[in-house]
Amino acid sequence: MSNSKIIIIGAGPGGYVAGIRAAQLEADVTIIEENQIGGTCLNRGCIPTKSLLASTEALLLVRRASELGIEVGEAVPNFSRMMERKNRIVSGLRGGVDYLLKANKIKVIKGKAGFLDSHKIHIETDTGTQKLEGEKIIIASGSKPLLLPFIDFNHSAVLTSEEALELKEIPKSLLIIGAGVIGCEFASIFNPLGTKITMVEMMDQILPTEDKRVAQAMQQALQKRGISIFTKTKLEEIIEYREDGITARFDNGEKVTTEKILISVGREANTKGLGLENLLLRVDGKGNIIVNEKMETNLEGIYAIGDVVGGYLLAHVAFEEGIVAAENALGIDSKIDYTSVPNCIFTSPQIGTVGLTLDKAKEEIEAKLARFPFAASGKAQAMGEAEGLLQLIVEEDSGRILGGQIIGPHAADLIHEIALAVRWGLTTEQVASTIHAHPTFSEAIMEVAKKAEGKPIHLT
Ligand code: FAD
Repeated sequence: MSNSKIIIIGAGPGGYVAGIRAAQLEADVTIIEENQIGGTCLNRGCIPTKSLLASTEALLLVRRASELGIEVGEAVPNFSRMMERKNRIVSGLRGGVDYLLKANKIKVIKGKAGFLDSHKIHIETDTGTQKLEGEKIIIASGSKPLLLPFIDFNHSAVLTSEEALELKEIPKSLLIIGAGVIGCEFASIFNPLGTKITMVEMMDQILPTEDKRVAQAMQQALQKRGISIFTKTKLEEIIEYREDGITARFDNGEKVTTEKILISVGREANTKGLGLENLLLRVDGKGNIIVNEKMETNLEGIYAIGDVVGGYLLAHVAFEEGIVAAENALGIDSKIDYTSVPNCIFTSPQIGTVGLTLDKAKEEIEAKLARFPFAASGKAQAMGEAEGLLQLIVEEDSGRILGGQIIGPHAADLIHEIALAVRWGLTTEQVASTIHAHPTFSEAIMEVAKKAEGKPIHLT
């Protein structure tokens, strides 16, 4: 490989991983970042939410300590310490990414980048404007919360995920508009803290992109925890903004008054100010940059990765797309494969899904479903975490594993065994005949594979 000059716009998970892979291939890499290294994932997404969820999960565990035979006093959240811990974790990890970029001799310029033409970039920095020329340019500018035009986002009661992560006090009540992944994760953060939560979703199920059985199980779990959920309901307007909250009206005429409202109705590609219009770069109807499986745009030498191309808005997909783009930019033929992308929701209980749902599989082939409830798992019973189930989608003739859905303990970790099976075309026979340690949560995957084989051991 050469000392090709590669410019990357954005230092989120897509951009910094693309930079590291390009540097490994001996390119001369410059990353331009207008905000903080680590992007949404590290600063305003994956890591801060998971840090807060770790605190609320600890709270829930302490609250059920007596069930495990341990007597403790009342568990009381200390919100400012939870937030301080979250900030400490984020800044520590940011320092780690910074170190990786330096160790790979990647130059980082702080500023806002825009295209002058297909090889030239201008950068607005604190000290003025710079120009930079690159042989290959990778756009990794990410996404931002989708705003509803009829809502005043300057009002202190109105939150996107970004403000929700910076609150100083626990809200007494919270209306969550949009019960997708982000809405459900915030419900799982604030519900154990004592916030009265109402969730409103305009589709006919929460988690609209998930398998309906899994979404139903999650809805029941959230309702059991006291969260009010309204599906097929649309926010029409906020009829009153007050100092201490808002009153919202829905399309069914109902009104709800809460201290805060979180709008989590989706994300939009971050392309404003990039000067794409100067380039005739193709975008779709939603403003996502159109790319092929090599992450190439319609313009030679320009690649796009991560949230800005739409599709899966996931950090691990951005990581992989970053690697694919860097390799193609440096002469290695590399293609993205989305068949086994794990999708994890860090609610309590957790959700992990991969590959096809039963309904999707049946559109193409003869497929069946095997199910294993965590109630039948010795480990889950021992841990007092026997809520939920695991299901495998299997091709009838071959026994090939096509997908899986898990709702329950450690689902976000367990799903990877099924992802491996989907990725490499493993059969239920192969998984069922692999000895799994006892007692573990992973055993449930062996058990469900045995069930699909018609040879269940710990099930009838
Ligand atoms: P981003 O992370 O958005 O990074 C883009 C970067 O580009 C930003 O730093 C931005 O400042 C910079 N930039 C933009 N325009 C310019 C410009 N013109 N010049 C210079 N810099 C620019 N995903 C998961 O996989 N797991 C999770 O648990 C998870 N949790 C999430 C929780 C929340 C609340 C949110 C909002 C998201 C979550 N995500 C999660 C999604 C994940 O954060 C994104 O998919 C991921 O960050 C996308 O990476 P990216 O590199 O494409 O973009």
